[in-house]
Amino acid sequence: MATLTLNNGVEIPQLGFGTAAIGEWQQDDSYVTDTILKGMSIGYRHFDTASVYGNERALGRAIRDAGLPRQELFITSKVWDTEQGRETTAAFERSLERLQLAYLDLYLIHWPLPAYTRETWEAMEQLYDEKKVRALGLSNFRKSDIEQIATFARIRPTCNQIELHPYFTQKDLVDYCQFHKMAVASWSPLGSGSWSGVPTSEKPVVDPVIVALAEKHGRTAGQIILKWNIQQHRIVIPKAESLDHIRNNFLLDDFTLSEEEIQAIDSLNRNHRFGADPDTAHEENKKVRVPD
Ligand code: NDP
Repeated sequence: MATLTLNNGVEIPQLGFGTAAIGEWQQDDSYVTDTILKGMSIGYRHFDTASVYGNERALGRAIRDAGLPRQELFITSKVWDTEQGRETTAAFERSLERLQLAYLDLYLIHWPLPAYTRETWEAMEQLYDEKKVRALGLSNFRKSDIEQIATFARIRPTCNQIELHPYFTQKDLVDYCQFHKMAVASWSPLGSGSWSGVPTSEKPVVDPVIVALAEKHGRTAGQIILKWNIQQHRIVIPKAESLDHIRNNFLLDDFTLSEEEIQAIDSLNRNHRFGADPDTAHEENKKVRVPD
């Protein structure tokens, strides 16, 4: 599996398994564990969760049941808006406890909250110093938020996880992050899961340009979009429950998109978000509770 080396030397598999709303939003039962175990048996080793997904326990059970050596896995979680600031250390410990892990591979600030960023980041730096987490990163950070963190961060963020798909390519932000040696991870790469309520007919997986490329390469539309990310040195974390999707999304090694094909996908950009906007997300986020 292809990996990227983060700016602190830690290797991250470029393909990860998204876990938001497996089943339902904040579902945390054996169905979620079994879905993740299917992913592990197919070969996924990188899993993306968050305290607010309410499924860290299910992921923890999958990790325990799979019995894989811990160092083969790459586990990401995130600190939610209501946990930022002086709550951060306790929130991290609760995530570890739910996951039944001794350390995380990557811990992210889920959404920017400029008034809290310094306190949150300094708590995360302390956790990094204590070797409870191997890499620190950001999610949904705008250029201004990255500039802010650069004024005080002792430990540089290794990555920024942002909404990114063919209809929302965020080219300026991606270039800015990559120029500053932060890896970019694409969330909702296929146009979002059921949590968003977006109908399939509006998602890039049915776009005629993508479908034509899929036919040309003898692949699925999903594989084309994931490969478009991988070839541009991005991390990508599709979520899938159907075994076909889980399998398909893992088979990305034996075809290559040409430069022209990559550009054709880039040019589908419509600056169209399926998820929340970091300029306004906090108003809704602060109403969302992290389950125990
Ligand atoms: P995705 O863009 O990954 O899309 C998931 C949907 O696509 C599901 O309905 C799935 O179906 C379907 N699907 C999966 N594979 C294929 C395929 N090959 N062809 C066609 N359809 C396919 O959605 P998410 O919104 O879940 O994003 C992925 C991950 O990103 C999340 O799970 C989460 O980990 C992360 N994320 C992070 C956010 C942040 O703020 N940092 C915000 C949102 C997401 P099915 O499940 O039925 O197989």
